[in-house]
Amino acid sequence: MEHKLTYENWDTQLQEKLNNELEDFMDVIKWAYHVYQDRIVYACSFGAEGIVLIDLLAKVNPFAKIVFLDTNLHFKETYELIERVKKKYPNLQIKMKQPEQTVDEQAEEYGDKLWNKNPTLCCHLRKIKPLENELSHVDAWFSGLRRDQSPTRSKTQFVNKDTKFNKVKICPLIHWSWDDIWTYIQLNDLPYNPLHDQHYPSIGCEMCTLPVASGDDSRAGRWANFDKKECGLHQD
Ligand code: SF4
Repeated sequence: MEHKLTYENWDTQLQEKLNNELEDFMDVIKWAYHVYQDRIVYACSFGAEGIVLIDLLAKVNPFAKIVFLDTNLHFKETYELIERVKKKYPNLQIKMKQPEQTVDEQAEEYGDKLWNKNPTLCCHLRKIKPLENELSHVDAWFSGLRRDQSPTRSKTQFVNKDTKFNKVKICPLIHWSWDDIWTYIQLNDLPYNPLHDQHYPSIGCEMCTLPVASGDDSRAGRWANFDKKECGLHQD
């Protein structure tokens, strides 16, 4: 399928046709690189889904562009994992995207530990604005969203109109389960964040991520003291 869908020339019929005709995750990835070429980037958090999607993207495009939103507040295990991934896939273009302000500059302007007072503003400054800036150079971006991750993600499609960033958002893994992700990681001996073995199914910044009790929602440890379960990247 040659059709290139862009946010500026949105065509709902074409979107429906693509979502009906693209058969599986590999089909989606191949189509996306075919039509967007170097105008597509993967915004990766290096969680379990992220590792799987990196491996799949690298099979189709060994020079794939990956961006990590480096808030400077991640776990040391996450930074170590990124180094391991860089060694395993030396041709991938992995960019550590920094916010405009350092943590100290942010504290000077907004007060110390903004994540404890206003995590929505903190995520806006350290994640959303940097991604917006990065996406200004492309037409589309990949995300590792899965439908069974949360009710808010249950209607995600392969090809989505992203009205947050005014781009096309491509989600090849929507039909994968958590077990599928881990089976793939183990079968392919992929590197992963050791915090996953310590009851951290979903891993973000260190100050905003706690381990979860067994049976809890996988995102229960994110912003556990707030009525917030998403950093805002996937909310319109
Ligand atoms: S996850 Fe927490 S520390 Fe990280 S950007 Fe959001 S509020 Fe700030």
